[in-house]
Amino acid sequence: MNKIEKCPLCHSDKLHAILEKFFEVPAGLTQEQIENEDVPYIDERLWVLFERVLKNREPSKFNIEHCQACGFIFYNPRFTHEEIIAQEELLNVLLAPKWQRGIRVADPVQRKGERAKRIYNLITAFQKASEKYQRILDYGGNEGFNLSVFIKKRKECFIVDFKDFWHIPGAHYLGKDINILDDNHVFDIILLCHVMEHLNDPGQMLHDLQGHLREGGLLFVEVPLGSFAEWKHMPDPTLHMNFFSEESLYKALRMNGYDVLYMSTKYQWVTHYKMLCINALACKQTTTTLTKYKTTEQQMDPADFFWYLFRRTPLKHTKRTLLSIIKR
Ligand SMILES: [Zn+2]
Repeated sequence: MNKIEKCPLCHSDKLHAILEKFFEVPAGLTQEQIENEDVPYIDERLWVLFERVLKNREPSKFNIEHCQACGFIFYNPRFTHEEIIAQEELLNVLLAPKWQRGIRVADPVQRKGERAKRIYNLITAFQKASEKYQRILDYGGNEGFNLSVFIKKRKECFIVDFKDFWHIPGAHYLGKDINILDDNHVFDIILLCHVMEHLNDPGQMLHDLQGHLREGGLLFVEVPLGSFAEWKHMPDPTLHMNFFSEESLYKALRMNGYDVLYMSTKYQWVTHYKMLCINALACKQTTTTLTKYKTTEQQMDPADFFWYLFRRTPLKHTKRTLLSIIKR
C-alpha cells in the first residue's frame, strides 16, 4: 500500500479527506474455517488481504479523499496492482474448491441477456452508417456474457481478464491483463464494465486502452455511481477503491485522450441485482465532445437519487419512502 499526496486521476494536490475508515482481519476467523466453511464473502476477502497479502494483523486506517479539482473520490493509501492481483488470485484458489466440494453454492450471473442487449443497443445507437465494427474486446469481461449479442451478429469477440476459466462460445480469451496486448491488437469497440473502480491507476488504464482502439472506434465504460453512497459503506477497501461520479469519469476520459459522446447515470441490472451506474461512451479525441455532466457534489446528494427514482416509478417510490419513514 502506498499513501499518496496527489489525486491518482488528475494529479492535483487539492485533496480533501471526507471520511476515515479502519479495516482489520475478522476477529476469531481461522484458516480451518476459511477452507472448510461457508464464511461470508467479505470476511474471506479481508482475511486473505490481511493474513496473506499484507501479512499484517493490525487495523489499517484509510482516508477517503475527495479531489477538489476533478471530483474523484478514492481510498488512500492505495493498494498496488500486485497486491490487488495477489488477493484475487488467492481468493480464486480458495473459492473454487468450496464450490466443487459443495460447501458453497455457485451464484450464477442472472439476466445476462438483458444486460448484453442494453450495452449493444447503446453502442449501436452511436454507430455511424459509414463505420463497420467487427473486432470487440471486453476488458475484464469474466465469462464474456456482455459480448453475446455481438457474437450473434458474427463479430470477432475477445476477452482479457485475470480469471481464465470458462468463456461463452465465440469469445476468444487473450490473457490476463493489458500487458499481453501488442501493437497488432487493435479493436473497433472496447467494453470496460465495472473495472475502473478496482484499479490502482484507472487513468493509466484509459490511456493505455486508447492505443488499442482504432480511429473511429468506441470505448464503453460502465462503473458504479460510487460517489453517491458507496464510498461510505464499502466493507472491504479492495472491493472498490475508486468512487466515480459523472464529473470524475468525464474528466478522466478527457484527460486521457477521449471525446465523450454519451454519459448517463441509471439504476440498472448488473450481474445479480440493480444498482446505480454511470454509463459513458467515448471515442478518440477528434473535435466535438459532450459538455454536460453531473458534478460529484450533485451526485453525492441523496435528493438527486430520490427525484431520479421518483420520476421513474412514482407510486412504488412513494410507498417505499413512506414505509422507511414509518419504520424509523
Ligand atoms: Zn483529481
